[in-house]
Amino acid sequence: MADNNHPISTTETGAPAPSDARSLTVGRDGPMVLHDHHFISQMAHFNRERVPERNVHAKGGGAFGELVITEDVSQFTKAAVFQPGTRTEALARFSTVAGEQGSADTARDPRGFALKFYTSEGNYDLVGNNTPVFFVRDSMKFPHFIRSQKRLPDSGLRDNNMQWDFWTLNPESAHQVSWLFGDRGTPRTWRNMDGFGSHTYMWVNASGEKFWVKYHFKTDQGIETFTAEEAAAITDLDYHRRDLFNSIKRGEHPSWTLYVQVMPYEDAASYRFNPFDLTKVWPHGDYPLIKVGTLRLNRNPENFFAQIEQAAFEPSALVPGVGISPDKMLLGRMFAYADTHRYRIGPNYEQLPVNQPKVPVNTYTFDGPMQFHHSGNRPVYSPNSYGGPVADESAGEDYSWESDGEMVRAAATLHSEDDDFGQPGTLVREVLDDAARTRMVGNIVGALTDGVEEPVLSRALEYWRNVDKDLGDRIAKKVSEA
Ligand code: NDP
Repeated sequence: MADNNHPISTTETGAPAPSDARSLTVGRDGPMVLHDHHFISQMAHFNRERVPERNVHAKGGGAFGELVITEDVSQFTKAAVFQPGTRTEALARFSTVAGEQGSADTARDPRGFALKFYTSEGNYDLVGNNTPVFFVRDSMKFPHFIRSQKRLPDSGLRDNNMQWDFWTLNPESAHQVSWLFGDRGTPRTWRNMDGFGSHTYMWVNASGEKFWVKYHFKTDQGIETFTAEEAAAITDLDYHRRDLFNSIKRGEHPSWTLYVQVMPYEDAASYRFNPFDLTKVWPHGDYPLIKVGTLRLNRNPENFFAQIEQAAFEPSALVPGVGISPDKMLLGRMFAYADTHRYRIGPNYEQLPVNQPKVPVNTYTFDGPMQFHHSGNRPVYSPNSYGGPVADESAGEDYSWESDGEMVRAAATLHSEDDDFGQPGTLVREVLDDAARTRMVGNIVGALTDGVEEPVLSRALEYWRNVDKDLGDRIAKKVSEA
């Protein structure tokens, strides 16, 4: 019965629902009838209540929070969101990369670290990972890479052979794969991992001066990871999603300190690594971390589907004072993200409450499914004589860089110290200690002895010898003994 705690249920058109328990039949035990609109509408809507899962980063979770700028970086960017003392509402979504909805949170995989800042100048999205680098450096390779991590065409099974075939035929992957098979490939919780913007972006200050920038979100909870055995022993597929939700519910609000590395615009041409190559980091010794502020997550979603599943992050959501760079992965993502949202959620996905900017939107993009921004009698073309919005071309400038001019399909320019194995070698030799290297050997041997065949196996052993001779020899010995 309806009472103060339970309002009367209605049909979708707002009239009292005839029943939520019984369908209309001819006689008590007779057939159901097509004109039972309330039943038909419940069933038809149920049949349509999922949207396609994200092709990449399908399994995840997230929460709302706030970015607070505690330092002064106004010499590098005029973006309102980064001015001293500014507080901006934020949404974060964490995810695995390859697994589908329902897959295990604890799998060895990079983690998505996607952020949306609802700034006073429009939404700014930073769609990063918990790793500073990536597997490939040209987005032409991206669909191939993801397919190699997903499922075989015949059996529909995941396949180590396919993964290692792709990686070893693309040696630029060595840095990310080294990172992945180290301890940080299996974070203990999303709270205990760092986040990176990964790409190089442009910052522009109030005088129009340009800088190259990389974002680092360092966990204030400390890095904690699982060993391969600990991760495998966890039977709760939603382990990370549950951990984040419950910790916020308990009042334990995770935070990250935001730092940036800033490179003067002119340094890019002669820097020892191509600074736009997503398979490389800028060593801290060259460009030290500069503190900016704190990101804290303090509010759980109230409706997972509406606020997390339908959240649409896109690196193309930029604000004045922030631009992109010639990173060919970033350039490809500038198109791909908005396009996948148009397919997955619908062409007016930006109008959903979770995606809506907190500032007025005055665009001539109109109509399409579920449109409601252009509901009034407003001009639908520009220019017009009837009060329609006009562009302020000084505010909406496209931050640019010099280019070579001629159109080519070519690998990115190599700088003096660019090679595929140098930085992963530094990670293995100079960052990891003996115990971490031994765990890494075990992780790699575990994968290589689980379905990897010739010629992929020999190529994988060579790949690891190129990263580090000793590490490769240890892996080869263990594989031959297995
Ligand atoms: P530094 O000695 O200044 O820093 C080492 C970096 O490695 C720190 O950011 C550290 O993170 C991180 N790290 C520690 N253990 C691991 C692990 N198991 N897996 C991945 N990262 C780890 O080094 P440099 O800046 O000179 O870079 C040396 C190498 O460190 C690089 O080739 C790269 O592989 C790796 N690295 C570099 C980063 C950068 O932006 N420069 C970022 C992350 C890794 P923490 O401080 O949280 O312990």
